[in-house]
Amino acid sequence: MTLNLVTIPCREDNYAFLLHDTETGMTALADAPEAAPIRAELDMRGWNLTHILITHHHYDHVDGIEELRDAYAPQVIGAEADAHRLPQLDLAVSDGDTFTLGRHAARVMDVSGHTVGHIAFYIPEARVVFTGDSLMALGCGRLFEGSAPQMWDSLSKLAALPPETQVCSGHEYSAANAAFAVTIEPDNTALADRAADIGEAREMGIPTVPSALSLELATNPFLRAHLPEVKAGLGMEGATDAEVFAEIRARKDRF
Ligand code: ZN
Ligand code: FE
Repeated sequence: MTLNLVTIPCREDNYAFLLHDTETGMTALADAPEAAPIRAELDMRGWNLTHILITHHHYDHVDGIEELRDAYAPQVIGAEADAHRLPQLDLAVSDGDTFTLGRHAARVMDVSGHTVGHIAFYIPEARVVFTGDSLMALGCGRLFEGSAPQMWDSLSKLAALPPETQVCSGHEYSAANAAFAVTIEPDNTALADRAADIGEAREMGIPTVPSALSLELATNPFLRAHLPEVKAGLGMEGATDAEVFAEIRARKDRF
């Protein structure tokens, strides 16, 4: 495998990711919360930044772009639908588009809900998806602009990716997410195990992101709203999947 994935903690609780091809030198950054830690990582590894992928317009995902553009002249790639509120794009992309990162294909998925115009980038050869604030480790982004049915649709598309895919999401929220998740599924043993693992990792300062999609499917309540046992636990046996998702999201907002 010649593709390396590096997780970079930024700001208070953000993550940025570098995907690097050791043969071609291609180095793509997923989200730019701030420039300094990303420049430090690139410099330490002797990598040149060739691409920036933007998931959505929030400042904690784009603030570092101009400084990185000046320093490395990368190709900046983001959603055409959000071009009016994103930094200048060199490539504007839409749902279903495929483009190349060096010699590797990247697929664009619209995953609106947290914002409208939020996209994810799936790189099949790397078995990686950059999800920003859509699907997160044991959680999902708050619904600032989109509707619950829209987010459920977005999460369902991500859930259909190969289960071995690494989910690279934008924040370290796992401990708080775990505390909430166990209130939705108190009898889920995979979730209980994961919550314990998260507690240990965070005590040692180890990131809990990225996470395997298979683990999210087994434990993340926001991916499990369609399951009879989850519906029954909420007393919502007759409800639609999107209605159950909306209830779980609303409970998290109040948690
Ligand atoms: Zn955001
Ligand atoms: Fe964010």
